[in-house]
Formats: sequence, C-alpha cells, structure tokens
Amino acid sequence: MKGSGAPVRNPSALSTPRRPATRHVLSEAGNTDLMALFEAMLAHFGPRHWWPAETPTEMIAGAILTQSVSWHNVKKALLNLKNANLLDFAALHRTPAQVIEPLVRPSRFYKAKTAKLKAFAAWITERFGPELDAFLVQDPTALERLRSELLSVRGIGRETADCILVYACDLPSFPVDAYTRRIFARLGHFDERIGYEEMRDFFMTRLPADTALFNEYHALIDAVGHHHCAPVSPRCGDCPLARYCPAAASPPDSAP
Ligand code: SF4
Repeated sequence: MKGSGAPVRNPSALSTPRRPATRHVLSEAGNTDLMALFEAMLAHFGPRHWWPAETPTEMIAGAILTQSVSWHNVKKALLNLKNANLLDFAALHRTPAQVIEPLVRPSRFYKAKTAKLKAFAAWITERFGPELDAFLVQDPTALERLRSELLSVRGIGRETADCILVYACDLPSFPVDAYTRRIFARLGHFDERIGYEEMRDFFMTRLPADTALFNEYHALIDAVGHHHCAPVSPRCGDCPLARYCPAAASPPDSAP
C-alpha cells in the first residue's frame, strides 16, 4: 500500500504557478487557497492511507475493476484472483479469458472487465517485460508520455490512468472525478460543465508536483464526497470545507 507522507513544498510552484487558458474555472484560487482546503480536510479526516492495496499489482487491478462498481465488490474479485494465483499481470496475460471471467464476476460487467485486465496485462508484459518493477520505476520527466501510453490501452480512462500513475508509480499526476467536480463547483471554483483535463490542470498548475500531496489530496476529496457532499441534501453542518463553501449557507436541498 502506498504511504501518504507530509507534502514537500516546491518553492517554484508557490511563486510562479503556470495558469492554463481555462473556460470553466471560475476562481482566482492559487496554491495558498488549495492548501488551506487540504489542511482543513486533513485535520478532519486524518491521513487516508490510499490506495487500499497490498501491492502495486493489486492497486492497478483494483483501479481497473472498480469502474462503475463499489469497492466492496472489487475486493471479492481481487480475493478470487489472489486465491487463483492470478494477481500477476504476466499470469493474467497467458491465462484464457474464460478462466478469469468467473473470478472477476463480483465486480460486475465481468466480461468487459476481464478484457480490460487482459489488455493491460498484454501491454505491460510486452512493453516492460514480465516484472512490474520496470513499469513502476519511472523518471518523473516521463510522466506525460507514460500517461499518453496508458490512455492508449483499452479500458484505461483518464481517472484510472492518473490513479495508476500516482498510487502505483509514485508519479505526480492528479486524479479527479465526479466528487472533485461537485465539491469544487459548490466551493465556487468550477463551472460544473468542466471537463476532466481542465479539472486536472487546475490542481496540477496550482500545487507543487508532489506525489504524496496528490495521493492524499485526492483521497481526502473522496472522503468529503463520500461522507458529506451528496448530490442532494449534502451534510454541510460538519463538513470540513463548510467555512470555505458558499453552498453551505443555502438550504441543503438547494445546493447545486
Ligand atoms: S459545505 Fe456542503 S456543499 Fe460545501 S463541500 Fe461541504 S458538503 Fe459540499
């Protein structure tokens, strides 16, 4: 499991943030504002110790299997793969789909998810060899190239790619998701029509390129989304972001 140590600040990122041309970012928030939100969430929840996996292989397989299903179901599928000695991409590559499909059935859409696991297993084995270590030890300057390669693999979407990069490869790629969109729209930073890449850029250009910080920040956003910021009737009263959030002052049912 990946740790989540204290963020190391990058002075250059503090003083000269690169701002992209944006269409759906509504605020002038900078590093200080985002770090204040981070500190408030961290004080409330404590370190989240993401990703919940014992090995990088389990982390990556879990990220692929968790698409459109609860983590509870993913854990059952991962346990099945582990018990069959198939929590290994070289083994998944040489094992027929018909053998894998019943094992990943608890994660739903099991045929599609088996195809995605096998596509990743084929790519990683052919590109880096049978040992995952060659994939995991990457130069940070290779981040965007590696991300492009990941996105070319069947079944690897942007959020999955960024989770793999930050939680398995220890590279500073900020994952965003539906929770990020909802929370930061309610905080007044985004227009809710914002797309994935613009959301990612918002964080990547305002925060220091720090893997531990990105690891913890994404996990804390997930905690706020899961425990407080529901689509309807959010629990603003004890939300750690309430004092920064204009939506907290409105009746809960009217929050966007
Ligand atoms: S204060 Fe309410 S609307 Fe704002 S982020 Fe928290 S739960 Fe969401």
